[in-house]
Amino acid sequence: MAENTFIPPPLPRLYPWHESVIEQMKGAWAAGRLPHAILLQGAEGLGKRELASWLAAAVLCETSTETLQRCGKCASCLLIAAGTHPDYFWVRPEEDKQLISVDQIRDATTRLTKTSYRQGYKISIVDPAHQMTVAAANGLLKTLEEPTSNSLLILITSRPSSLLPTVRSRCQKITLSSPSAAETLQWLQTETGAAADPALIEFTGNAPLRAREFADGRFSSLDSDMQGALGALVAGRVDVTHVAAEWTKKNELPELPNRLTWLDLWLTSVARMGIGGTADLFTFPARSAHLPSLPATLNISAIYGVVDQIRALKAQLARTALQRELAMESLLIAVLQVIGPPPQELRK
Ligand SMILES: [Zn+2]
Repeated sequence: MAENTFIPPPLPRLYPWHESVIEQMKGAWAAGRLPHAILLQGAEGLGKRELASWLAAAVLCETSTETLQRCGKCASCLLIAAGTHPDYFWVRPEEDKQLISVDQIRDATTRLTKTSYRQGYKISIVDPAHQMTVAAANGLLKTLEEPTSNSLLILITSRPSSLLPTVRSRCQKITLSSPSAAETLQWLQTETGAAADPALIEFTGNAPLRAREFADGRFSSLDSDMQGALGALVAGRVDVTHVAAEWTKKNELPELPNRLTWLDLWLTSVARMGIGGTADLFTFPARSAHLPSLPATLNISAIYGVVDQIRALKAQLARTALQRELAMESLLIAVLQVIGPPPQELRK
């Protein structure tokens, strides 16, 4: 059996946007119709793991009888909090690996067929399920088709379409949806005690947990850095080679996808304003203190061409350092062509 590097599973936690899913599960529990396999799907940054952990804790909780709940005090709840519940197993890619192997899945499914240590349910969670190898996914099919009693398998994914259709069709799908932007803003305000920037919601794709990660100054410093860099490029105070080299330096790599997301949203916002002909449509970022003034006539299709180029680069960041730097350089040249002053002014 595969050795798992021990990383404690996430602790159970519910967020306001989990409510409808919890109601649905409580209904199934009360009716004695808890599915044996759940595909928990939804975007990143919605707390799917904490929700799965809560579900497992509630199913295993020794005070859960008629109502599905987690008391936090019984022996089962304490074992879960300590990460040592013998009937609860969490499978993730092993350290330094991208994929979940067939051995790991065999380990998880074998546990579901054994007798429960605590006379209750046995639960295995596969996270993220779209990172199973094809052999691992096939290894799940028997468990999905012939489940043992009192067993629950939860597959967590943000990319359900990457799962084998045979796996998908044999699970009950539970979809976790994003709250509205207004709800996310309100939640962030409660969490951080400060008003949140609406541009942050757009930047994080309205994923509340990701937004919270960026709320404490991280987004605003990225934002002013990007605005400053664009302003300096347009004014000719720095050149693209320098900026491309800075952004693709090794220690800058975690930030590069964020820079590209920022550029994507900013240019999309510029295009929106160009199409609608009104500055009110320019909504990203919210503040524009350092931004260059844009040319009077915008070439909308050229802007969208650059947006496509940004997305292509984002999808191929795993290239060599030199390729990344060159791609960034040509991207910045393209950005300057669509937003910069006419070439004769640059030459002055
Ligand atoms: Zn309990």
